[in-house]
Amino acid sequence: MELSILTFCYLIASVTFILGLKMLSNPATARKGNLVAAAGMTIAIIGTIFLYEEEGVKLGNYGWIFGGIAIGAIVGTLAAKKVKMTAMPEMVSMFNGMGGACAALISIVEFNHLVHEADGDLSSHIPTLLIILLGLIIGSVSFAGSMIAWGKLNGKIKDIVFPGQHLLNIGLLLVILALAVYLMGWAPANPSVIFYAIFAISILYGVFFVMPIGGADMPVVISLLNSFTGVAAACGGFLYDNKVMLTGGILVGAAGTLLTILMCKAMNRSLTNVLIGSFGGGHKEAGPAGAKQQGSVKEISLSDTAVVMAYASKVYIVPGYGLAVAQAQHACHELEKLLEAKGVEVKYAIHPVAGRMPGHMNVLLAEADVPYDKLQEMEHANEEFAATDVVLILGANDVVNPAAKTDPSSPIYGMPILDVELAKNVIVNKRSMKPGYAGIENDLFFRPKTSMLFGDAKKVLQDLIAEIKNL
Ligand code: NDP
Repeated sequence: MELSILTFCYLIASVTFILGLKMLSNPATARKGNLVAAAGMTIAIIGTIFLYEEEGVKLGNYGWIFGGIAIGAIVGTLAAKKVKMTAMPEMVSMFNGMGGACAALISIVEFNHLVHEADGDLSSHIPTLLIILLGLIIGSVSFAGSMIAWGKLNGKIKDIVFPGQHLLNIGLLLVILALAVYLMGWAPANPSVIFYAIFAISILYGVFFVMPIGGADMPVVISLLNSFTGVAAACGGFLYDNKVMLTGGILVGAAGTLLTILMCKAMNRSLTNVLIGSFGGGHKEAGPAGAKQQGSVKEISLSDTAVVMAYASKVYIVPGYGLAVAQAQHACHELEKLLEAKGVEVKYAIHPVAGRMPGHMNVLLAEADVPYDKLQEMEHANEEFAATDVVLILGANDVVNPAAKTDPSSPIYGMPILDVELAKNVIVNKRSMKPGYAGIENDLFFRPKTSMLFGDAKKVLQDLIAEIKNL
């Protein structure tokens, strides 16, 4: 009876994971989707703790289990409450690493069980051993790689690139595979030594795998490592014959893989180029003082900006990473409402990789209660720019860089961009002439239709609102 209730719990959980994931794909339902999936996970965990039994024996160890849950819940809640929007990829990386570590630990525990059960002779347990090794290798790589990605994103770890690095990585991977085959096929006298050697080299591989990847590509790598963790967790599901762990792991693995592909597509780069391209790494093309000079830029005053915008009939706002840095989303929404009250039609053009993670701008603007129907995807916005009076770019740079279309030598060549130049006027707000994430200059700032409005996005928007109110 209890087993069937547990199976039912797992069924509910699996369904909520799928529903939650579906809801996450739309900003209007994303929050609810997160809660739905979390509720399913709670049902699965509580069900397992109280209903699971093997040969009539329940899990027990409630002190340890609930102690662990309490510590995890407190740390997770505090970290999530404290984290700044711009530091989200870092936190996702850290949490993902913990998932990888869990999967690797499950493999270590289960390997020791297996050795004990088989009395040292593992040859009759090859399928189980294979799953254990997969969980160990993928989980360890995901853990070590995610920790390096976390360190790189918060600036604690610098990019380290040396000649022959990629060859070393391939070598390490081959050693791991050779040892795994040896452990399964040749029944070594001391299997534990080989097993822990695989563990150690997998950790090393995770470190070296992420080390050379350029800073700008970290979100893509995190998404890839996320899919690794999903697959490693699915291995745990196989080992324990636990359907919900299997479903959850496969969903994370598949979603992470799809997201990685989508991000690569949005930047028009191959995964290989991401993994070995060192894009956005230490070598910026322009110096810290600014982009290479290629003419003069035209500045616009706040009062002129206020007039141009207040008397426009259609305005597009292009949010970018700088808007998130300045935390200017509320001021931005206020400007939009003010302009709409004056009869101006205002919309937002959302580039798929604006910011530092997929959906960054959607989440940022949703935080300020910007209505979802105001957010236009890139393709649609590009069709509408020609009939737009003013495009106001707030802290965006790479996603509006025409070099992506015109300069085959540019690292972002081929990336689809927002064609803001089709509009009648382009006003760019940023603090200086410094480049964006890709570290390259932006010719748009020197074009005749473009005017620069220098300053921190939040301060500029607040002053602009005051100016428009005084008109
Ligand atoms: P960029 O990083 O290209 O540019 C951001 C600009 O914001 C900078 O040029 C900076 O200029 C300006 N800025 C910073 N702080 C402020 C502030 N307080 N007020 C006003 N402006 C500010 O951002 P984009 O959003 O245009 O492009 C995203 C980049 O990230 C792309 O290269 C994309 O490929 C990459 N990327 C995105 C991923 C994603 O999933 N979203 C994943 C992987 C990579 P200044 O210092 O002069 O103020």
